[in-house]
Amino acid sequence: MLKVTGLKVAYGGIQAVKGVNFEVHQGELVSLIGANGAGKTTTLKAVTGTQPVAEGTIEYLGRNIRGQGPWDLVKQGLVMVPEGRGTFTRMTIVENLQMGAFIRNDNEIEDDIEMVFGKFPRLKERRNQLAGTMSGGEQQMLAMGRALMARPKVLLLDEPSMGLSPIMVDKIFEVVNEIHQRGTTVLLVEQNASRALGLANRGYVMDSGEITMAGEAKALLNDPKVRAAYLGE
Ligand code: ATP
Repeated sequence: MLKVTGLKVAYGGIQAVKGVNFEVHQGELVSLIGANGAGKTTTLKAVTGTQPVAEGTIEYLGRNIRGQGPWDLVKQGLVMVPEGRGTFTRMTIVENLQMGAFIRNDNEIEDDIEMVFGKFPRLKERRNQLAGTMSGGEQQMLAMGRALMARPKVLLLDEPSMGLSPIMVDKIFEVVNEIHQRGTTVLLVEQNASRALGLANRGYVMDSGEITMAGEAKALLNDPKVRAAYLGE
């Protein structure tokens, strides 16, 4: 469904992504793990058209989408929940969710807002609250809800558990799992390697701009090198 080949991204003279290859097949949940600064966010930004690419191809549904902007990609079902959430802080929860549906003109938008409220009852309770006044966990829920409003085919999540309390982390991973179980393809970038690989079908490990390991999620979870470097053993 998504196939990235030879991806290189640089910030000025700094090579942040150095020729990365990975694939996400339809219906899979794939986790991309790695330490701070490994290049995971940069990779997601390149795929979703928010960071210029120096070299490589990005195929989505069989077509090269390199160079296309986020607007076009969201319309085609490639939707990202950015690191740090990026909610519209001076808009209410409902308005943020409506913004997520900006590419749609069907008459099921209200139904989908109710669907998001079903997943995240907290958002329903606070539907008219300004997003900027919500907790980090609530904003993460909102960012995920807003992405679902675009009816993604592939959902790319950048560190959804970052900075959240253990209960909120549980909730976020539970919803990621549910979204995947209901048929959405997911690419999950996480520093929480054990949780991310625990949910995934397959995984990739990124280090210093390169993919250093790839395989079935269970095999990676049991790999001594992964356990030593990313699971604190
Ligand atoms: P994190 O989990 O900390 O977000 P990451 O794996 O997502 O880490 P990136 O954010 O992609 O890593 O960063 C990869 C490298 O690119 C790092 O060395 C970082 O300092 C550098 N970098 C990222 N964004 C920029 C930028 N806007 N300008 C210059 N360098 C950048």
